[in-house]
Amino acid sequence: MMVKCKMPRCGKSFPTLITHIKRIHKLSSIEYLKRFPHAKLFSGEYRRKVSNSAKKRFLDDPTLREKVASRTFDFVKNKKLAPLLKRDYKSAKICLKYSLWKPSIILYGSIIEAILMEKFPKARDFYRALETSYREGVISEKQYHQIHMVRDLRNFVHLHKELSEDSEINEYWARTFADICESIIKRFRR
Ligand SMILES: [Zn+2]
Repeated sequence: MMVKCKMPRCGKSFPTLITHIKRIHKLSSIEYLKRFPHAKLFSGEYRRKVSNSAKKRFLDDPTLREKVASRTFDFVKNKKLAPLLKRDYKSAKICLKYSLWKPSIILYGSIIEAILMEKFPKARDFYRALETSYREGVISEKQYHQIHMVRDLRNFVHLHKELSEDSEINEYWARTFADICESIIKRFRR
């Protein structure tokens, strides 16, 4: 699967347009998306490949995980949401501490979702909020792929999904979700 470059008189196709638009059209991905707001930058296949290799990197190198500090959610404008986030964040950490992997994954996933949805209230779902965050330069490309990974893995909340994919919810994934959540919070606090 490929994505087609929308620049006039170009129309070339690639799995990802990032290098092409930079090299040939001297545009960053953000500049390109400003010109073509609904354009795609990556094919679905490419996106899956990158999130799988991110998964592998986390498996190979546990030091990718960052040290956890205690958090406030003062960057959240909705003053009713902030205490809920703080509550769930605290619960997620307690779950991690007591090896409750599944609830911690659910909590971290929903904290990430809530932060993005609050930033882009017009996006009707997590997927669109994630796309918009990347397009507007709110999150990095690395974070974009990580959050896609979170979305995919969060499906294991459904027991039948967990059974059918023969994958398990374990400490590794709980800690990875925690790390991704920390990096998103750090980014939003700036
Ligand atoms: Zn082009």
